[in-house]
Parts: sequence; structure tokens; C-alpha cells
Amino acid sequence: SPVPTREPSVLPVPRDGIAGAAPYGAPQLPVAHALNVNENPYGPSEELTAAIGAAAAQAAAGLNRYPDREALDLRRELGEYLAEESGVPAPPAEAVWAANGSNEVMHQLMLAYGGPGRTALGFTPHYSMYPEYARDTYTAWVTAERGPAPDFALTAETVTAAIAEHRPSIVVLTSPNNPTGTALDLDVARAAARALEPARGLLVVDEAYGEFRRDGVPSALTLLAEHPNLVVARTMSKAFALAGARLGYLVADPAIVDTVRVVRLPYHLSAVTRAVARTALAHREELLGKVALLRTERDALAAHLAGRGHEVAPSDANFVLFRAFRDRDDVFQALLERDVLIRAVGPAGWLRVSVGTPEDNTAFRTALEEADPR
Ligand code: PMP
Repeated sequence: SPVPTREPSVLPVPRDGIAGAAPYGAPQLPVAHALNVNENPYGPSEELTAAIGAAAAQAAAGLNRYPDREALDLRRELGEYLAEESGVPAPPAEAVWAANGSNEVMHQLMLAYGGPGRTALGFTPHYSMYPEYARDTYTAWVTAERGPAPDFALTAETVTAAIAEHRPSIVVLTSPNNPTGTALDLDVARAAARALEPARGLLVVDEAYGEFRRDGVPSALTLLAEHPNLVVARTMSKAFALAGARLGYLVADPAIVDTVRVVRLPYHLSAVTRAVARTALAHREELLGKVALLRTERDALAAHLAGRGHEVAPSDANFVLFRAFRDRDDVFQALLERDVLIRAVGPAGWLRVSVGTPEDNTAFRTALEEADPR
């Protein structure tokens, strides 16, 4: 091979925290039923695929130029969508920020509001990337525990006590939470925002799975008017079935957006990404059309698991966390042997399954009968 393989002993040494660390990533295996990373199982229609292709082709004709750094059209349209989705007044483009997935959005927030000598606080079990954003930005990552199974609910007492103890610059609350599926009581978010005020800390509510919440569960977007230290992060990866395009966004006070603009890399959002995202937004009726079906399938899956006698975390997301009867790694492996890939995450003994198509969900149920007999 033209690239020589060298002895590790002669290679440059990465900094602490990076040396010896493995890159994040769930397995990407060629299975019939991939229910491991909370993707939307429905791809775009032929018509929408063509529309996205045409938009990308139009962008391609101008790829000799750098993209529009501000993407205010996309940011305004995302705000209009949120007004429809959550019943809040449409945030202006200047109050919305977009980047390559909500992963990049949150990484940028930690770059701007974390850093050496600063602390970010989360609640376990949490999404596995949070400590990595913190590590990358030299932010200390500390945690407190969510409430007990099966609902893993957060209380205002837990959150305010942890804020008093750790004095964080950033608090991350996730709603619905990954991997538990738990929606956040907005009184808890209010208490966190207030507790952060004296030291002027930032509250990030990560609503990556927000669109799957059950009827009557409000979004933290409704709190933005009252709390200038609140950021709500969203993504097109899940409900919009657009994980491959990489488009995440946030809503916050325009001053917070302006601060994030300082740390973003120049031209971070490609012209192709922006064109694809705008086309997907214009076709949101089709893309979001499967959310209702996924919610129904989610409830049926949770009921089925409870019916088998599993402990099940009530879910407002497009996945369900349940406790296996036997060793979870054995169950995971036995499911994989039956062409069903799920995820061994969360507290010891628990497994997380994403909601797929009705066919995927049936395959999972059938495989589980053998993989984890009652
Ligand atoms: N937040 C949570 C809670 C997630 O589970 C994920 C993805 N699994 C993300 C953020 C990031 O998603 P993306 O970068 O695709 O928007």
C-alpha cells in the first residue's frame, strides 16, 4: 500500500483525552432490520427524491463559489416550521441557527459557552456524545442521575441541587431523552433556567426527538419568550427522515446565535446541504407524514413488550427502552443472528430498540421470542 504502516512508538502523541480514545459510532452492519440508531425507516418518495436531486443539481452549478455564510432563507423557513409544529410565534431568522446535524450545533455551543475552567452538566443515562463535545472543547463534563426506572423522570429538585453543587456554565436537558424516551416536565426546565440565571449559565434543551412526543406534551420552545438563557436544539435527522443530509438547528436569543457565529467555521454549511434542507422543508407534509404512524407503532411496541412482562420506559420518542430477561449482550447477539440490530445502551440490563416499519417491528417481536424467552 502507498501509505506506510508505522510502529506506534514513532507516531506523534495526541493530547490527553484524545490519545487512545475510540471514535464514536454504533455498528453499521448490513442487516435486514436496522433498529439501532433511531433513524426514520421511511425514505423519500420518488417524487421527493427527484426534487432533492434537482435542488442539489441547481446548487451544483454554483459550487465554484463559497456558499452563503448566513443561510438566512433556510433559518427563516426553519422558524416558520417550528411555529407550525409547536404553536409558538415564528422565531425570526436571526434567532435560528443551522449546522451539520444537531451534533455540530451542540459542539458549537460548547465551543462558545464551555471551555477550560468551565463545566457542563448532564443527567444519566444520557446521549453518549455529550461527554465527547465536552472533551473536544476542554469543558469539564459532570453528571447527576435521572430518577429511577421505569420512567427515569427528572425533577426540579434533582436539577437545581446539581446546579448548586456543580455551578455549570451549561446544562443539557434532553426531551425526549435518549436512551430512555422520557419527556421533560417543563417546570423542570423552568427551574433549571432560573437556577442558572445568577451565574448567567446556558440551558440547552435537546429536542432531537421532539416531534414524536405524545399529544399534550409541550415543547421547550414555549419557554423561549420567558428565558433568555434557553437554547432549544432540533434536527431534521429523525422526524424529517433526513439523517443522511446532516441538518440540525437551534432557536435562541439572537445574541446567543451571534455568539455561535463567532466559533463556527467559515462556510460550514455547504450549498448542497442548504438546498437539500430547504427542499425537504418545502415537502414537510410528506416527510412528517410518517410521524403519526411511527408514534402509533411505538405505543404498540411498548405495549407488546410490557405484555411480555418486560419493564418498559414510557417513550415520547421513536424508540423504546426495555429491560431484558437475560444478559443483554446475549439478547443483542441472538437478535443480530436473526437479522435484527438493536442497541445495548442505558442502564445495565436494558436494551433500546428503534421503531421501524410495521415489517421491522414484527421481525423484532418474532426474533425476541427466541432471543429473550420469557
Ligand atoms: N441529540 C440526541 C439526543 C440524539 O440522540 C442525536 C442522534 N442520535 C443527536 C442529538 C444528534 O443527531 P444529528 O446530529 O443527526 O442531528
